[in-house]
Amino acid sequence: MLNQDQCWEALERRDRNADGKFYVGVLSTGIYCRPSCPSRRALPKNIRFYATPKEAERDGLRACLRCRPLELARDPAAEKIQELCRYVEAHPDDPHDLADLAARAGLSRFHLQRSFKAAVGLTPKQYVEACRMRKLKQSLRASKDVAEAVYDAGFGSSSRVYERADTRLGMTPNQYRQGGRGVAISYATAESPVGLMMIGATDRGLCFVQFGDDEQELLAALRREYPAAGIAAMTTPHPAEFRNWIAALTNHLAGNQPKLELPLDIQATAFQMRVWNYLQSIPYGEVQSYGEVAAGIGKPSAIRAVARACATNTVALAIPCHRVIRGTGELGGYRWGLARKRALIDLERAKRAAAG
Ligand SMILES: [Zn+2]
Repeated sequence: MLNQDQCWEALERRDRNADGKFYVGVLSTGIYCRPSCPSRRALPKNIRFYATPKEAERDGLRACLRCRPLELARDPAAEKIQELCRYVEAHPDDPHDLADLAARAGLSRFHLQRSFKAAVGLTPKQYVEACRMRKLKQSLRASKDVAEAVYDAGFGSSSRVYERADTRLGMTPNQYRQGGRGVAISYATAESPVGLMMIGATDRGLCFVQFGDDEQELLAALRREYPAAGIAAMTTPHPAEFRNWIAALTNHLAGNQPKLELPLDIQATAFQMRVWNYLQSIPYGEVQSYGEVAAGIGKPSAIRAVARACATNTVALAIPCHRVIRGTGELGGYRWGLARKRALIDLERAKRAAAG
């Protein structure tokens, strides 16, 4: 048990000797610190003390980036691992095999593997890939040439990267094997510039974003998509997360939030995931042909399969299948009608042109 008075006193003095003995959570910022953290003091009513980082994280708090309280709780290799992380971040193109990394940190391969996972939560290999993914995403934003971006990010071939990229979508394929059995889905509707929009979500993310003319039609579509799931109207007022997702989609439709990064919880084959991940890299206001998408995922002959993957997308906007058209410049198909596809493309182009 923590002695609250001693904690307050140590916090007051920013006592370094108290570091590691307890942790200071600040509810208003969602951060927890060492007692000696040099950051500005929070109001006492927002402060909670915790005996371990785990308890603070159980309350939804994240480790402070300034005082890095987690490093106290780690094994003595932690500092070397921190350095190693910085090194990998600075050199995402290098191959970084385990032996090289271990030699750099002065640890055995076994020790590195174990300590790294304990400290960072990922294996060294996963961390290297995460750094490459981040670089890839940055260069995709800056450049239109996907093959080049993939090469720049240190992946050998574009097919590999899309397999890795799958982890971006928070999918849980097992739960969906039987039409969503055991999954609870809540839904709500919102008006949009292209008609009524229904949004369905599990507690992991959005699983359904579709357009229609009325709620009954949309609800029927939701039930068809997840016939075995428990489906219920969202309670009001909507939970904060759900409100944020609706606000993000609405802002996106209004052209005020070109980049949508929402947690998704969808069912997909590996091929669909590859296509959908790729679609998320097409910038707001731009279009590509089915053929370009097929080439982009390293399957240039799979044009029809790409079109099918677009047509089976269950989360409009979040996976922007409306940005894919025929090579001839014709619109191709759209699950929610060509008029809506045309309207979305025009809307994005106009907003983009206006933004200069
Ligand atoms: Zn701090």
